[in-house]
Amino acid sequence: KELPADPILENTRRQVVESCFSFVNPKKTARPKLVHSSFEMAEEIGLSREDLDSESFLNVFTGNKVMPDTKPYAMCYGGHQFGNWAGQLGDGRAINLTEIEHNQKRWALQLKGAGETPYSRTADGLAVLRSSIREYLCSEAMYHLGVPTTRALSLALTGDQVLRDVLYNGNPAYEKGAIVCRVAPSFLRFGNYEIFAARQDDKTLRILTDYTLRHFFSHLGKPSKETYLKFFQEVTDRTLHMILHWQRVGFVHGVMNTDNMSILGLTIDYGPYGWLESYDKGWTPNTTDSQFKRYRYGNQSNIGLWNLYQLANALFPLIGEAAPLEAILESYKTNYQIEYLEMMKSKIGLFTDDSEDVQLINSLEENLELTETDMTIFFRKLGNLKKEINRENAILDLVNDAFYAPNEIQGEICKKWEGWFSAYIKRLNKEKLTDKERRARMNTINPKYVLRNYMAQLAIDAADKDDYSIIDELFLLLKNPYDEQVKYEKWFVKRPEWARHKVGCSM
Ligand code: AMP
Ligand code: MG
Ligand code: MG
Repeated sequence: KELPADPILENTRRQVVESCFSFVNPKKTARPKLVHSSFEMAEEIGLSREDLDSESFLNVFTGNKVMPDTKPYAMCYGGHQFGNWAGQLGDGRAINLTEIEHNQKRWALQLKGAGETPYSRTADGLAVLRSSIREYLCSEAMYHLGVPTTRALSLALTGDQVLRDVLYNGNPAYEKGAIVCRVAPSFLRFGNYEIFAARQDDKTLRILTDYTLRHFFSHLGKPSKETYLKFFQEVTDRTLHMILHWQRVGFVHGVMNTDNMSILGLTIDYGPYGWLESYDKGWTPNTTDSQFKRYRYGNQSNIGLWNLYQLANALFPLIGEAAPLEAILESYKTNYQIEYLEMMKSKIGLFTDDSEDVQLINSLEENLELTETDMTIFFRKLGNLKKEINRENAILDLVNDAFYAPNEIQGEICKKWEGWFSAYIKRLNKEKLTDKERRARMNTINPKYVLRNYMAQLAIDAADKDDYSIIDELFLLLKNPYDEQVKYEKWFVKRPEWARHKVGCSM
C-alpha cells in the first residue's frame, strides 16, 4: 500500500513504469506434491508442524490457492548484467505471496517458479526440480554457516513438465517443474533503485528509498540527505560482510549482477553458484562466464564494489553530491583489506597481531594453489595441529587428506609447504591459546561440511527418481556444518573424480 502499484492488472509482458510492482496471481499447478519443508523457517514465521503438513499449505505454496486478504505481486527492477545495463528485468519467475510480521520480524514469502509475470520477458516463469533443490538446500546451508542469506520454507513439485532444453536429436527435454518458497525480510535488490534512476523517475525512486528506510533501516533516522548517505554506508558495510563470509566458506555466487544484490546484504538468487573444492581464485561455477570469469572466487569483492558504484549512481539523484558517496566507496577498499586479513587469520587460528601476518597469509594462499588442495578439508584439518610439532613433514600428514594429488607434494612444492608450516608454527607460538582452545575456535570458523557441488548433484539425481532421502540427509547434515557428525563422516571427503568438472546449473 505504501508503494505505487502498476495500474494494469493484465498479466502481459511489458515495460512497467512509475510503479514498484505489479499484481499477479501464481499459476495453478497440476498435481502439487511437497518434497521438503523447513521446520525452523516455519517456526520463524509462526507456522506449526501441522500447518506444514496441511493440504492448504501445499495449495498456497504451490500457487493453487491465494491466501485470503492477500494480493500476490511481482516486483519491478532493472540491473547491470555482466557489466552492462540491461534495462527492466523484474521478478520474471518470482511471485511474492504476502508479507507478514511475526515476533517483531518482517518476512516476505516468495514463490520461485510459479508462472509468468509482466517481467517474464521471453521465458516461462517456471523452475525445474534440479535448480529448486539447489536453491532450497544451499540457502538453508548458508544460513546455518552464519552467512547472511535469504531462506527457504518449502520445496514442492508442481506435477507439470517444464521445457528447458532441446536435445541434439531435436527432441524436447522435459523436466519436472518445482516451486521453492523463499523467505527474507525483503527481496529488494540494487536493481530496484537503479531502474528508477535510469528512467529519471526521481519521484518513485524517493518513494521506494523512503519505504526501505522506514521498514528496514529505521535506526538511521528520518529520510534526509544525511540519512540516505548513512543508508548507503550501511548497505556498503553489509555487502562487504556478506562477501567476506563467502570467501571464508568458499562460496562462489556465480551471477553477481546488480539485480542479484540484496539491499539488505543477503545472499540472493541461487543460480549457478558453486563451492570451491580445490582452492582456486580463478574458479567460477558459471559456464556462461568462462571467458572473462568476471564472477570468479577471487573477484567477488571487486564486483561487490563495482555493484555498489551502480547503487551509488542510482541514489545520487536523492543526494546530489558525489564526494560523500565516493568516500564511502573508497572506504570499502581499505575496510575490505583489513577485514579480509582478520578473517583469513582467524581461519588459521591467529587472533593477535604480528607484523608478518600479511606475508604469512599471502604465502599460504600461494601454496594452496600450487597443487589442487581442498579448501574445506585443509582449513578444518589445520585445526588439529599442535604447536610443539617441529618435524615439518609430519605436519603435512595433517593436511594430506586435502591434497588431490598428494604425490605432487615433493621438490619445490614440498619445500614451500615446509617453509610455510615452520613459519606458521613459530607464529602460533606467539598466540596465547592452547592447542585445544585454538582448535575449538577454528572449528567455529572453518566448516566441516559444505554443500559440495557433487552432493547437490547426488540429491538431484535421486530426486529425479522420486527418492528424496538425500535431500533430507543433506538438509540435516548442513544444519550443523561446524560440528563433528560421526554418522555423516562420508561427506567429509574430497570431491570424487567423476564430479571434477561438474558445475552449477542456473535455469
Ligand atoms: P537471474 O539470472 O536468475 O538473476 O535472472 C535474470 C532475470 O531473468 C530476472 O529478471 C529473472 O526474473 C528472469 N528469469 C530468469 N529465469 C526466468 C524464467 N524461467 N522465466 C521468466 N523469467 C526468468
Ligand atoms: Mg536474479
Ligand atoms: Mg536466478
